[in-house]
Amino acid sequence: MTGAELILSGETDIAFNPCGGYHHARAEMASGFCYLNDLVLACMRFLNNDKRVLYLDIDAHHGDGVQEAFYASNQVMAISLHESGKTLWPGTGFENEIGDGPGKGFTVNVPSPIGICDAAYIEVFTEIVIPLIKAYDPDIFVLQTGMDALAADAIAHLELTNNAPAEIIDRLLRFNKPLLATGGGGYHKDIEIHAGGNRPLGSIYFLKENRFLLHCHRNIGLLPGKYKISGVSYADLRISM
Ligand SMILES: [Zn+2]
Repeated sequence: MTGAELILSGETDIAFNPCGGYHHARAEMASGFCYLNDLVLACMRFLNNDKRVLYLDIDAHHGDGVQEAFYASNQVMAISLHESGKTLWPGTGFENEIGDGPGKGFTVNVPSPIGICDAAYIEVFTEIVIPLIKAYDPDIFVLQTGMDALAADAIAHLELTNNAPAEIIDRLLRFNKPLLATGGGGYHKDIEIHAGGNRPLGSIYFLKENRFLLHCHRNIGLLPGKYKISGVSYADLRISM
C-alpha cells in the first residue's frame, strides 16, 4: 500500500516490497500463508484513482485470490503464470478460467508443466504476455514476483533460474510505466535471499532512475553481486536504515 501511494503521488515510478505478495488471501478467508491480500488492496487503490492495472503473477502458485477479486472486472487484467493446478496447490488457474461478465477475457491463466525452464518460460511471456500488455495498454503494472518457481524450491517443481524473472522485469520496465512489485512465495532460504523474495523480512526497495534505494526495518544481510535486475546488482544497492 505504501508503494501504491508513492507511485500515485509521483514520488517514485517503481516500488518493490519483497515481503508483500500475499496473492492467495480472499475477501473473508486467509489462505496459503496469506491473511491479507496486499495486491488486491493496491490494485483497488489504483482503480479508485481511475488507473487501468495489469497484474502479472510469476509465483509458482496460481494467483487465485487476486483472480477472484477481479474476475468480473475489466479494469484489472490479471495474468498468472504458474505450475499447473494438476500438480500444485491450490489446484486452480486453468486455461478456461478467463473471467466473467464484463471481466470476460481479462483473466488469463498459463499453467506450466513440471520442470519448465527459462527458455520456455520466457517464450510464454513473449508470445502471450507481451501482446496482452500492448493490447490492454495499462496505466500501471502490479507484479507478484514469488521466487518459488526457481529450481530447487522445496514446494514447487519448476526449474527456472534468476534470469527468467530478471528478464521479465527488464522487459516490463521497457514499457516506461509505473511498476509496483512485491515478493511472494519461496521456500529455499538461500535462493530466496539471492533473489530478493519475501524471506528477508521487513524491507522495502524503491527503484528510481535505475537505482535501488533500500529501506530496511532490520538488517536483512543481502548477498552481493551474483544476480542482477535491470543491470543493477545487489552490490550497487544504496542502503538507508
Ligand atoms: Zn507460491
